[in-house]
Amino acid sequence: MTTLIMATNNAHKLSEIQQILKGQYLVKGLADIGCTEDIPETAHTLQGNALQKARYVWEHYGLSCFADDTGLEVDALGGAPGIYTARFGAMNGYGDDHDTNANIRCLMDKLKGREDRRARFRTVIALIQDGREHLFEGVVEGRIVTELRGTEGFGYDPVFEAEDTGQTFAEMGADMKNQISHRGRATRKLVEYLSLCEK
Ligand code: IMP
Repeated sequence: MTTLIMATNNAHKLSEIQQILKGQYLVKGLADIGCTEDIPETAHTLQGNALQKARYVWEHYGLSCFADDTGLEVDALGGAPGIYTARFGAMNGYGDDHDTNANIRCLMDKLKGREDRRARFRTVIALIQDGREHLFEGVVEGRIVTELRGTEGFGYDPVFEAEDTGQTFAEMGADMKNQISHRGRATRKLVEYLSLCEK
C-alpha cells in the first residue's frame, strides 16, 4: 500500500484522514517521521497555511507530503473566525490558543441573540509531490446551534450542525462526518488526483 505523510500532529485530524483513506493509503503523521517541531502557520489564507506546513516537511525532510488547514466561517461575523479559528477564544480574551472550550464559549457569546446562524467549514489540502504543489478544497454548509449537542469528534463539532443532516458533527458517527465534512470532501479530491497520477 502507498504511504502518504500528513504534516500534522493533530491526532484527531490524522485519525479522520486515516479512516477516510483506509484500505487505499497508509497515512503517517509528523511524529512517525520524527518531526516534533511546531511548524509555523503565519500565512494570511488557508491555502497559504496549508502550503507552509507541507513545504516545511518537503524542505526539512525531503519527503512528499500533504497538509490541511481548516477555517470556520460564520456569516453573522462577516466570515470570522476563518484563519483564526484555532485562536478565536484567545484573541478575544477567552483562554489560550487551541483551547476548544474557550473557542466555543467565545463563538456562542458572539452569536447570542443573533438569528442568522449560517456557517461553513472550509478545508484546504496542500499536496507537495516531488516538489510540485497542488491544492484541494472542501466545504460543508451548516449553522451554529444555540446549545452544544453530541460528544463525538473534536473542536467545534458540538456546535456545528450540518445542513444535510440536521445533526451536529458531534452527534453523528465518524463515518457519517467523513462522508459529508469539509475534510472528507477535500480528501476525496486529493485521492481522485492521486489515482489519476497512478494510472
Ligand atoms: P487547524 O486546521 O488545525 O488550524 O484548525 C483550525 C481550528 O478549527 C481548530 O480550532 C480546530 O479545532 C478546528 N477544526 C478543524 N477541523 C475541525 C472539524 O472537523 N471539526 C471541528 N473543528 C475543527
